[in-house]
Amino acid sequence: MNTVLVTGGAGYIGSHACKALKATGYTPVTYDNLVTGWEDAVKFGPFECGDLLDRARLDAVFQKHNPIAVMHFAALSQVGESMQDPGSYWRNNVAGSLTLIEAAVAARCTKFVFSSTCATYGDQDNVVLNEDSAQHPINAYGASKRAIEDILKDFEAAFGLRHVIFRYFNVAGADPDGEVGEFHRPETHLIPVLLDAIDGKRDALTIHGTDYATPDGTCIRDYVHVCDLVDAHVLGLKWLQEDKGSRIFNLGTGSGFSVREVMDHSRTVTNRDVPHREGPRRPGDCTKLVSGSVRAEQELGWRPERSTLKHMITDAWRWHQNGHYDS
Ligand code: UDP
Repeated sequence: MNTVLVTGGAGYIGSHACKALKATGYTPVTYDNLVTGWEDAVKFGPFECGDLLDRARLDAVFQKHNPIAVMHFAALSQVGESMQDPGSYWRNNVAGSLTLIEAAVAARCTKFVFSSTCATYGDQDNVVLNEDSAQHPINAYGASKRAIEDILKDFEAAFGLRHVIFRYFNVAGADPDGEVGEFHRPETHLIPVLLDAIDGKRDALTIHGTDYATPDGTCIRDYVHVCDLVDAHVLGLKWLQEDKGSRIFNLGTGSGFSVREVMDHSRTVTNRDVPHREGPRRPGDCTKLVSGSVRAEQELGWRPERSTLKHMITDAWRWHQNGHYDS
């Protein structure tokens, strides 16, 4: 009876969400096309292989499982790639999400938890980023997520689709039990790339730009532990079940770290050097993205207690050394 449809449940964040849902008494049904996800990561409930753009398949899955809510993680999520291949981002993320939202409404499943991003804010100098800040994305990834937020608003007005939108800052770390973790092929995110370099799985980390207007010249991000992040999703689901209405929440800690600071912490945690080189800026990167909101803490009772860099890198390093998926 407590079934939740989790799109992208075979991916990094979705698989952690499935674990958290199961631990809280829900049955997560993973819907994933396995383009970037791993069937090995589907450990906490049934698996339905399918694409967001396949309306007939979505209708069949809604009919079979009759979920009480959707948690929508499935997306292309790389800033750099989105600048080179914007069409895939608009097709998969926007057209795919629209197809999913229409299928949900048709199935009368009107509780929807959506993974959005701080990339919807764009580069805003000296602006405190809270949920009411203007959204001026500077990459196709952020633009695609902002468009989906707009779709959700329109579907709420027309069909009563209640939604919680989470705007993630930078997600890091892994399940401390080692059951699931971050595993992208190819990998582009800072912490796993950096751990690959430490471990000799790649020759070096390339720092994407050292001439930003930050104290050490590298970009600043706000890192959140994936387990804290998915806990917020369970709280968001309960919020919807309690009929508290649609709401947007930033998920960040309010503390920013530069690329060089993340490297320093990684050196300390692993006790190894980080082989690195300095490279040019990556198109689409914002200088600084740090949350300026405590709405999730105040209204959802969220406590991001595992979101220290030391904790995130320690958990990521443990997974990096012991965990992987084969398929
Ligand atoms: N970054 C980097 N080298 C890499 C990967 C990332 O210097 O190999 C930087 C990137 O430019 C950004 C930060 O690390 O400033 C976080 O990037 P990531 O891709 O992890 O997440 P994003 O902020 O793009 O969602």
